[in-house]
Amino acid sequence: TQTAMGGRLLKKWISAPLRELDPIRKRHESVEELLKNKKVRKTLNENLKEIGDLERLISRICTGRATPREVVAVKTSLKKIPELKDLLNQLSVNTLRNISEQLDSLEKIVEKISTAIIDSPPAMINEGGIIRNGFSPELDELRDISLHGKEWIATLQQNERERTGITSLKVNFNNVFGYYIDVSNAHKNKIPDNYIRKQTLVNSERYITPELKEYEDKILNAQEKINELEAQLFNEIRSLVANETEIIQKDAKLIAMLDCFNSFAQCAEEYNYVKPFVDESNKINIVQGRHPVVERILDPGNKFTPNDALLENETQQIILLTGPNMAGKSVYLRQVGLIVLLAQIGSFVPAKEAHIGLVDRIFTRVGASDNITAGESTFLVEMQEAANILNNATSKSLILLDEIGRGTSTFDGISIAWAITEYLHENPDIAAKTLFATHYHELNEMAELFPKIKNYKVEVREYDDKVVFLHKVNPGRADHSYGIQVAQMAGLPLFVTNRAKEVLDNLESKELTPYEIKKERLKKLKSEKDNQISLFEFKDDELRSEIRKMELDKITPLEALNKLSELKNKMRKDD
Ligand code: ADP
Repeated sequence: TQTAMGGRLLKKWISAPLRELDPIRKRHESVEELLKNKKVRKTLNENLKEIGDLERLISRICTGRATPREVVAVKTSLKKIPELKDLLNQLSVNTLRNISEQLDSLEKIVEKISTAIIDSPPAMINEGGIIRNGFSPELDELRDISLHGKEWIATLQQNERERTGITSLKVNFNNVFGYYIDVSNAHKNKIPDNYIRKQTLVNSERYITPELKEYEDKILNAQEKINELEAQLFNEIRSLVANETEIIQKDAKLIAMLDCFNSFAQCAEEYNYVKPFVDESNKINIVQGRHPVVERILDPGNKFTPNDALLENETQQIILLTGPNMAGKSVYLRQVGLIVLLAQIGSFVPAKEAHIGLVDRIFTRVGASDNITAGESTFLVEMQEAANILNNATSKSLILLDEIGRGTSTFDGISIAWAITEYLHENPDIAAKTLFATHYHELNEMAELFPKIKNYKVEVREYDDKVVFLHKVNPGRADHSYGIQVAQMAGLPLFVTNRAKEVLDNLESKELTPYEIKKERLKKLKSEKDNQISLFEFKDDELRSEIRKMELDKITPLEALNKLSELKNKMRKDD
């Protein structure tokens, strides 16, 4: 969003999506209209950028804490409103036209602030420099005095000389009685009536006049008075703005809304989102959906693989999604959740097409973390989340389960996962659309027994004992978890992954315990070792002596590399 209040509203929309068709459709229409009118949107964007945080500003104004700068920020923001209205009037969607109608540009207030306060005032209230010249005659006079005090004294001296004919008359200043008129004794007889004698010296006398004293008072206190008066005038303006709080708050809300629509339209264009079709049906059908965040943060060169998603209460209520770690299960689950959420906050969605039957809530059980300080283990937290879902979901909900029952023994876990899935399928009150990503391939059997459960898998290709992730979701079941291959990619020591493969083979075929395999393997190793010990030692010695002979500080990296390759070849031959 371009404005702070737009940002806050967007957050609110995301945490409280709409559940009713009409307002959702209205938001979509507004976004569509802005998307179509690129020119309007561009200018709108520029205008929104200039608008300050009216909500925060007005609250500071009301509590008497707003600085001159903040009051000017209100003015600059309000000044943008007429242009926003003009822009919106070029569009044909009612929601946007209503915003335009309701926006109040408060011209009188804008005018008042403009005439009273300079364009870039200081942040402080008490140091002056806030009010424009020409706004208050009293202030203008004080400023004039403060600026032209010395000139005034010189003029006065000149005038008095002319008036009295005393050419040596002087206006001076001392700390005891401030400004005074000094007249030498020779001219005593020419003193006018309005002079008041203050002091008699040997050669001269010192006088004051009421006019001089009044002016002196003004000069000496001018700056202080200016600051006081400016603060007072500023407070008056601030109170005037505060009187319009309700209107400004309403403006802020409307601008925030517009900002969100504008931002949705911007994203729709920039990231290629489409308008979702929303209705009250029991169907979610997403064609080539994408994860709005993951697709943006993939490394260059990696393209996001779009995926379809179809959930329908009557025929395909539960999808059991299998596939190895890193295949893209979590991303898929979240992307479906996010697309539904985006649709229901009024945004367009990252997909080629999307039909969203409105959901009443999105439940998730993704990535458990424990709460040990509260005495809750990971598994307990997971079960609490599951309990919340089963106790609160309705047939209108969307449930995303990213693994369940993993924090306990395998059989325990499978049993719990099975029972939860069955409950979701069988209980009509909570028969919610569910995406369930799991490693328990055993659960795939459920698709044979329960008509609304369907198996999907994330495709991978095996290639030279490695797995290549295709990130493509298709109907079917995954055969393997490829956990060991992923562990290998992660850099687990070869010994561990090789050993794990053996354990797995045995578990899957002979169902031996790992201990029994170990015994077998040890026996095998021991006999190999007994036969080959001398050979091992011999080969080893030869290599060692070669390496010992190498003088590392005398050879180039290239020579070292060649040597290494030579040694490796030798080893290969020996093997
Ligand atoms: P899983 O949950 O199956 O272990 P994730 O969903 O966490 O796997 O995905 C692992 C990584 O794979 C993600 O971080 C992302 O980089 C990449 N990925 C996932 N889905 C896609 C996709 N559809 N297109 C491209 N990359 C993807």
